[in-house]
Amino acid sequence: MIRFLIFVILAYVAYRVVKAVFWPKEKTIRGPEGGVIDEMVQDPYCKTYVPKREAVKKTIGGETFSFCSEACAAKFESEKGA
Ligand SMILES: [Zn+2]
Repeated sequence: MIRFLIFVILAYVAYRVVKAVFWPKEKTIRGPEGGVIDEMVQDPYCKTYVPKREAVKKTIGGETFSFCSEACAAKFESEKGA
C-alpha cells in the first residue's frame, strides 16, 4: 500500500514537471492564485503585447491581426496596402 502511494506521488510530481516544461509561460499572465488571467497577443505594427480580449482585430489580406488600438490597425493596413 505504501509503495502504491509513493508511486502516485511520483506520478503527480512528474505530471507537474512535464506540465511546467511544456506550458509556454511567455504568452500567459498568471494571477496570485495561479489562474490564467489572459493570453497576450503582439501588435504587428508597434510590437506591443496586448491582452487578447482587449486587442483590436482586423483581417488584412485573409490574415487576422491583433492590434493595441484602431490607430495601429489603420496605419498597419495602409502600409500593407501601399
Ligand atoms: Zn499598437
